[in-house]
Amino acid sequence: MKIAELHIYSHDMPVKNGPYTIASSTVYSLDTTLVKVVADNGLVGWGETCPVGTTYQPHHSKGAVAALHEMAQGLIGTDLLKPVMLRRNMDSLLNGHRYAKAAIDIAGYDIMGKQFGVRVADLLGGAVTERVPSYYASGIGEPDDIARIAEEKAAEGFPRLQIKIGGRDVAIDIAVVRKVWERVGGRLRLAVDANRSLTTRDTLRLSRECLDIPFILEQPCNTIEEIKAIRGQLHHAVFLDENGEDLATVIRAIGDGVCDGFGMKVTRIGGLHAMATFRDICEARSMPHTCDDAWGGDIIAAACTHIGATVQPRLNEGVWLAQPYIEGNFDPENGIKIEGGHIKLPTGPGLGVVPDEGLFGAPVASFG
Ligand SMILES: [Mg+2]
Repeated sequence: MKIAELHIYSHDMPVKNGPYTIASSTVYSLDTTLVKVVADNGLVGWGETCPVGTTYQPHHSKGAVAALHEMAQGLIGTDLLKPVMLRRNMDSLLNGHRYAKAAIDIAGYDIMGKQFGVRVADLLGGAVTERVPSYYASGIGEPDDIARIAEEKAAEGFPRLQIKIGGRDVAIDIAVVRKVWERVGGRLRLAVDANRSLTTRDTLRLSRECLDIPFILEQPCNTIEEIKAIRGQLHHAVFLDENGEDLATVIRAIGDGVCDGFGMKVTRIGGLHAMATFRDICEARSMPHTCDDAWGGDIIAAACTHIGATVQPRLNEGVWLAQPYIEGNFDPENGIKIEGGHIKLPTGPGLGVVPDEGLFGAPVASFG
């Protein structure tokens, strides 16, 4: 079963009740990139990649489209039943750009699932749950506002809350964390995510002044070297997110004892095949991790949910989706939704989500 056609679409998604603010970006609208792959037997698979603006990672939506353009013609004729060969073929056509390659990888799994009549979660090793835990990210705000959000999300049934901090006086961030803890206590697990923005000085102060509050500290500083320099003085477990750029970096970080877990993005690591390898490396070293993406609609949401369903429950830190910040779904019938802080694993073959492609307009490019 070979790739016969490849179509690239761009689709703009406004942020509901926006903007969405984190230390590294403020975003009002995100441009997602979709890939429709048609196999020579007529089966169709979808992939998606959507960087959250231009400063969160060295990824951007125009870069995704350009990278897909670069590879597309060379991918025609590639066997869709051999995901390792597909990945190597992409690597032979373009260095890096894993976030763009991920869209093709996801479309390949969608088609493979349809061919065999199984879900992507089963292709990735098997689902351990039909109800995948999610978590909510607060955005940056004032102590009372974030505490109110924490209260709402605990009541909705979210098992975990990620408090966004950074880009201002760390004393305000400390006040936010304290206020949230006072309000929700142990009703949900807490992550405090600085998105690379803190100095080592402020990271040390945050950890020291919140000694009594159990949270994980996510990507506090810009580089692994900064985190490494203060790691021994911190009172909180550290997760890497943005610095977990590829499997080689993940192996190095675990080997060097730099972190206690990861926030991981399916597109950053290169797609579902690489994500399954990452999951297994983490399981071998008892590293908790998330299965997120930066942003995007139903296709990437389904991909994250399928891999998230396969993670050993004791290590599953949840699947973050942009869905609460997006109006509507690509698939009006089986679109991915967070309900009660959890996501129902789709039941249909492949990703189990079929977008209404009329939403995307004409493709920006077609190959085949
Ligand atoms: Mg993060």
